[in-house]
Amino acid sequence: LVSRKKRTEDTVIEVNGVRIGGGQPVIIAGPCSVETPEQMDAVGAGLQQHGILLLRGGAYKPRTSPYDFQGLGKKGLELIRKTADKYGMAVVSEIVSPSDIEMSLEYVDVIQIGARNMQNFELLKEAGNVRKPVLLKRGMSATIEELLFAAEYIVSRGNTEVILCERGIRTYEKATRNTLDISAVPILKQESHLPVIVDITHSTGRKDILLPIAKAALAVGADGLIVEVHPEPSVALSDAKQQLNLPQFAQWMEGLKASGYLP
Ligand code: PEP
Ligand code: MN
Repeated sequence: LVSRKKRTEDTVIEVNGVRIGGGQPVIIAGPCSVETPEQMDAVGAGLQQHGILLLRGGAYKPRTSPYDFQGLGKKGLELIRKTADKYGMAVVSEIVSPSDIEMSLEYVDVIQIGARNMQNFELLKEAGNVRKPVLLKRGMSATIEELLFAAEYIVSRGNTEVILCERGIRTYEKATRNTLDISAVPILKQESHLPVIVDITHSTGRKDILLPIAKAALAVGADGLIVEVHPEPSVALSDAKQQLNLPQFAQWMEGLKASGYLP
């Protein structure tokens, strides 16, 4: 069902008046984790100035260590919803448990399924049972084919609104947190009619190369980008090293606009 052979025209997913896969690249921005009302308000206000309409932020954080911040859970979903409503944005947030999918519908506009859960088949099935767009991230050790099969799990249950996300894969290279598989973008676009976006923050784990990486992603046909932005990255409770602050985000946006990749 996700194959181009079954449907030739691009799937366009409309969220908050934003057309994902509709030709114009979309930007999903926000902090790694939802932390405090002050943090969310600062980032919401800052992003609104740049016309950002899709706000990301994790309330359930799949952390490598059990001793790291695990997210605010439902309180975090309430907080990101409140912030998004205040600033006219839609909520993109990760859900990690199949049993939370139904509950999340009240708070999120796009259900994110993270890299670590790309093959959590019960989660995929639950996400397929609801009628809400799903942002499905490629597993860090998953092939393109496995990503497409994971999307098929969702679409085959009747939820046709799936956004594929390349977020870097594991290689021996240590200069970046993951290795952005740039070829995955045109291959996915060729193989599938679903929108494809690139998470430039988690793929690189750096903030000094985000402009060229963003341009590269858009040059190869990505329908949008995810970028982590935090009002004060140094004190962030997760991914402190890789999040842009608001002035850095402003500069990045300017660079993208100057390059002609963003209107
Ligand atoms: C995230 O986007 O918050 C995240 C945890 O990313 P990934 O699942 O790609 O590691
Ligand atoms: Mn993160």
